[in-house]
Amino acid sequence: MTLMTEHLTEAHRLTLLPPYATAQLEVLRSAAEANGLTCIDLGIGSPDQPTPKAVIERMIEAIQDPSNHRYPAFRGKPAFRRAIAEWYRRHYNVELDPDKEVLPLIGSKEGLAKLALAFVNPGDVVIVPDPSYPVHQRGTILAGGELCLVPLRAEREFLPDWAEVPATMLAKARLLFYNFPNNPTAAVAPRTFHEETVEFARKNDLILVHDLAYAELAFDGYRPTSLLEIPGAKDRGVEFHTMSKTYNMAGWRCGFAVGNARVLEQLYRVKTNMDYGIFGAIQDAAISALSLPQSHIEQLIAKYQRRRDVMVAGLESLGWKLERPKATMYVWAPVPPPLTSYDFVADVINRTGVIFTPGSGFGAAGEGFFRVSLVAEEHILKEAIARLHQAKIRYPA
Ligand SMILES: *Cc1c(COP(=O)(O)O)cnc(C)c1O
Repeated sequence: MTLMTEHLTEAHRLTLLPPYATAQLEVLRSAAEANGLTCIDLGIGSPDQPTPKAVIERMIEAIQDPSNHRYPAFRGKPAFRRAIAEWYRRHYNVELDPDKEVLPLIGSKEGLAKLALAFVNPGDVVIVPDPSYPVHQRGTILAGGELCLVPLRAEREFLPDWAEVPATMLAKARLLFYNFPNNPTAAVAPRTFHEETVEFARKNDLILVHDLAYAELAFDGYRPTSLLEIPGAKDRGVEFHTMSKTYNMAGWRCGFAVGNARVLEQLYRVKTNMDYGIFGAIQDAAISALSLPQSHIEQLIAKYQRRRDVMVAGLESLGWKLERPKATMYVWAPVPPPLTSYDFVADVINRTGVIFTPGSGFGAAGEGFFRVSLVAEEHILKEAIARLHQAKIRYPA
């Protein structure tokens, strides 16, 4: 008997999405574990440390409060929005209207995807660097838009050259997404690059979307620039932040967008139709996170910086030549030729149980590289390097 399953066929938009790299890694991991290997997962960028104790304690208190048991307000709690505006003033000396220029999010990924839904019509072009954090590209695909990918190349220190956007694409472009310190390349952008980007967006009437997920995770004294520090940026720009990385709160799902009030208003409209905002107790806890003493950040930075140094030194002992990334929780390294990034990562998992992410998982221009997430303690990173040595995995001279 033939079953009628036509009605179970997915919508066209889903067929346009490339496979998610983390899903492919899961298959490789299962195979390695079936072969008796204990995996060391440096693939996904999920912080391994616990949420700070003060934040958990605030959460325990806040969860007892019945006012937090109802549907939360769409716009988030006024106290949370004020705490975000104050954090911005402290960090960047930028003034934000907490009612109009701040919008709490259920993690920044949610907001980035919905922003595309708010502004992209079928056929509109969205400019996104390649490789990129997946949702920067995928929100546009889900919204029926067309991507104009601008490659990040090692020769340009992984800064996109906006002059590469063809004029025909530029005429149809509505939005530009970008992200520095960058996931996955760990590159940082000088302030002048942000200024050029604001000028490019102004000239071409683009909405500018900057993802500052690694606002705090910077080393050797480097301080990342906020888009909103650039004069004129707020006329057309919004910036996305997450509590996931700085405060080890990835599982809590909490982030925020700030910047242009009209852009945020449309994002808010999409959200009112699709979600109910963040659990009130999580917002109370997030307020306490934003006012943690600077020593929390300093310890976090010191930990990731030591891990970075262990991983870079380890890869160098295997023949790689790398610069120490100035920010993020990643090391981005070239794949030994002639392997593709996927084949290299698969081979490493099969033979050592060490999991990296293939660069191609972040877009075609990520081919030739792999990403190491610094989400394990130093001795585990050393163990990963020892396994690579034993398997004679090297970068040829
Ligand atoms: C980790 C990360 C995020 C965080 O997303 P959440 O949904 O807030 O957890 C956003 N953007 C980039 C570039 C990231 O690396």
